[in-house]
Amino acid sequence: MQLSDLKNLKIAIVGAGYGGAAAAKALSLLGADVNVYEQANRIREVGAGIGLRPATMNRFRQWGIFDAIAKVSSPSEYFEILTATGDPIMKETWPADGEQTHTHLIHRGDFIDALLSVLPEGMVHLGHKLETVQDKGDGSVLTFAGGKTVEADLVVGADGIKSVVRRQLFSDKGPVFSGEHAYRAVISVDDAHGMVVDDNLRMYIGRGTKIYLLPLRHRGQVSFDITALCPDATWNPQVTKDDMLKTVDGFDERLVSITRGLDMDAVNIRAVYDIDPVDTWHSDSVVLVGDAAHSMLHHQGQGANSAIEDAGALADALREADSVKEGLALYQATRKPVTDELQRISRQGWSEDEIDEVFPGQKPAAAAPKE
Ligand SMILES: Cc1cc2nc3c(=O)[nH]c(=O)nc-3n(C[C@H](O)[C@H](O)[C@H](O)COP(=O)(O)OP(=O)(O)OC[C@H]3O[C@@H](n4cnc5c(N)ncnc54)[C@H](O)[C@@H]3O)c2cc1C
Repeated sequence: MQLSDLKNLKIAIVGAGYGGAAAAKALSLLGADVNVYEQANRIREVGAGIGLRPATMNRFRQWGIFDAIAKVSSPSEYFEILTATGDPIMKETWPADGEQTHTHLIHRGDFIDALLSVLPEGMVHLGHKLETVQDKGDGSVLTFAGGKTVEADLVVGADGIKSVVRRQLFSDKGPVFSGEHAYRAVISVDDAHGMVVDDNLRMYIGRGTKIYLLPLRHRGQVSFDITALCPDATWNPQVTKDDMLKTVDGFDERLVSITRGLDMDAVNIRAVYDIDPVDTWHSDSVVLVGDAAHSMLHHQGQGANSAIEDAGALADALREADSVKEGLALYQATRKPVTDELQRISRQGWSEDEIDEVFPGQKPAAAAPKE
């Protein structure tokens, strides 16, 4: 699209999570008139860490915000999978061959703060809970709780797994329970019983439980995350320390000790959901990004990364196409095959066979897990 057309484009983004904040950055760099509407009165993220992949970091470099993210994260060389008792199963080196940029490990709260801090003052409007979206073909009307309405040429639904935009315009299918719970906490490295030896992400697996240790060296902390099988589909289930200890039974005694030492008030507990792939992510003037479009299970650590890549691809597509309509079609054609596949493999979790499918031929036979 011509620069002058992009400058006249009024864009309303619903949701100020990673997808919404990244879309705001990428689209405002095109010169568009961007506003973000977020339901929360204060942005807060779960106390946990995630890994920002090289492609994500490269987008930040392109947008001129690499340093803002690098300042609050630590580069990591590889991701290793081990058995419950610490025998190595496989190792994925970061960055992949030929790439110069490392994966960076970051606290979720620092990540959203850094992303929002690079947006122009006044772009994000808190306390705006979207209730309805009316698609009028060449534009849309958003209505928020309390009755305020906003008109926009392009609406970006970045409103997460329970997206109102998706449910009202594209798919009324609800989230799907995975049969798992996630228990997440950030603890001091001093409380990690010597399990943090370098800056690399490690996952220990056994009997359906996965324990992730994600070092946050710049904070002197480590994100300690347990994903465990559980049939209770309540979004925010009640789980006790004893319940958690049962899920790590048989793991390296130091991992059990970390679990025993957790402050339960600081542990984020939730059931894990994703969505089935959505056939269409856009109309002529409304489009979905991030979890709203393709919420996936966290087993590949790609949900937030995908949201950032969506934002970059959406901006690229609008610049390349002749119209918004064409740009949205190009964006979906670029991103949906990638996220469909990530949704698929993320559902497979991490059994031995599944590791073999994701990393073919890399599993050393001698180091098969003792389960
Ligand atoms: C246990 C777990 C571990 C994970 N680990 C990783 C990982 O290691 N790596 C990774 O890349 N990803 C990971 N993810 C996935 C990642 O958290 C999500 O993919 C990511 O947060 C999606 O960002 P988003 O901006 O699309 O959605 P969200 O983060 O859900 O943001 C949506 C925003 O929209 C707002 N909103 C919702 N409804 C409305 C409304 N009606 N009106 C206005 N605002 C609204 C919300 O308040 C929120 O701020 C993990 C997820 C889980 C559950």
